[in-house]
Amino acid sequence: MNDHSLIIIGGGPAGMAAALAAKKAGIEDLLILERDSHLGGILNQCIHNGFGLHTFKEELTGPEYAERYANMVKQEQIPYELDTMVLSVEKLKDSNKKAVTVISSKRGVQTLYAEAVILAMGCRERPRGALNIPGYRPQGVYTAGTAQKLINLEGAKIGKEVVILGSGDIGLIMARRMTLEGAHVAAVAELMPYSSGLKRNIVQCLDDYNIPLLLSHTVVDIKGKEKLEGVYIAKVDEKKQPIEETKEYYPCDTLLLSCGLIPENELSLDGGVEIDPRTNGAYVDESLETSVEGVFSCGNVLHVHDLVDFVSEESARAGESAARYILSGKRSQGKTIEVKTGYGVRYTVPCRINVENAGELTHIRFRVSGVYKNVSIVIKSGDKELLRKKSMILVPSEMVDLLLKKSMLKESGEEMTVFIEEA
Ligand SMILES: Cc1cc2nc3c(=O)[nH]c(=O)nc-3n(C[C@H](O)[C@H](O)[C@H](O)COP(=O)(O)OP(=O)(O)OC[C@H]3O[C@@H](n4cnc5c(N)ncnc54)[C@H](O)[C@@H]3O)c2cc1C
Repeated sequence: MNDHSLIIIGGGPAGMAAALAAKKAGIEDLLILERDSHLGGILNQCIHNGFGLHTFKEELTGPEYAERYANMVKQEQIPYELDTMVLSVEKLKDSNKKAVTVISSKRGVQTLYAEAVILAMGCRERPRGALNIPGYRPQGVYTAGTAQKLINLEGAKIGKEVVILGSGDIGLIMARRMTLEGAHVAAVAELMPYSSGLKRNIVQCLDDYNIPLLLSHTVVDIKGKEKLEGVYIAKVDEKKQPIEETKEYYPCDTLLLSCGLIPENELSLDGGVEIDPRTNGAYVDESLETSVEGVFSCGNVLHVHDLVDFVSEESARAGESAARYILSGKRSQGKTIEVKTGYGVRYTVPCRINVENAGELTHIRFRVSGVYKNVSIVIKSGDKELLRKKSMILVPSEMVDLLLKKSMLKESGEEMTVFIEEA
């Protein structure tokens, strides 16, 4: 059958949570499409623990967390197709239906139709070619996630003397993983003056193993043509320009790159979804509906999350919203509020709130653009202060989650601004 109420693209934690919530909200005819051979997404390769503390009040490994959701999907008899790559999503001109073209060995190339689509494609890592580092791309240079997959899923041994560029969570986790594999991690170099990873990962993955974290440092040259021989690391100034005199050579056979994640939005862009350049995810409203009616987005494809628990919670909201859209047959009209960013706030999700659609509590999630201590988070509409919350410390690696009461939304004008106020 090629016609469905709801199609969910991606069978990672986001796609599974969205599907479960949509089913619970009354959608029977739904389908998850996943290009990989398993449900679970990136979690399948994250064999460390630290997942699920919020959702299950337990510390699980990535595969355990994924398995719990996959079991629920199976119990609810939600259909899913593996080894199925979605090639395009397009809203039909003459109706509200969306055409979803897929390729798989079972179907060949085929177009399916749905009233609503949830985009849950996750993200990929920034590769060597996207980094401005002189030198070749010799054997021994990997993105941290690729190295994680090779070691954890394929049992490969990839190197003995390691340098890691970027202190995002994947880089930190891999510093520990490589050490446990018997390698020596000489340093983790980070361009920014702060780490972009969670504090707990710095302590548990670097400090506990005496691995140095070089803040305000970067790799300026990669040596070796066929095989990696070493890298030069230099300190950077406040404009992030390398300081030549500080250049130091690190002989190594492995360089792991953990330099950011890019939401996989090629499908979304081709389908006419407007993308927010600050997140590289879709512009969404409070229902996580994108600029294309009936197309919703959640999880890492919407914005990069630090905790999978937040992915599951957010994606369940996308599932409920898609169900509401399908059952009501249209987008709701009425008062909308544009959510703007002010001092210290890099982006917000959502960017727009439809007051009629909003529940009693509306989540506003955001990341700050630097480290702020003893500050207040403020939301204002014109001169009216809608919310003020004190915070001892805000760091870019930790997403902030605010809850706005419906009464606050009613008090707001057509715009509200979220900003940081220093004492
Ligand atoms: C190394 C690493 C360590 C982490 N550590 C932790 C931790 O300790 N604790 C924690 O809570 N969180 C952690 N996270 C974060 C957490 O894993 C992610 O936030 C979460 O997996 C994101 O879920 P997602 O479903 O949005 O994306 P993904 O898990 O990436 O799933 C997206 C799915 O979509 C599929 N897909 C993409 N494009 C298509 C297409 N065109 N057609 C069909 N299918 C498609 C992909 O194959 C994939 O299965 C970690 C992440 C990484 C990478």
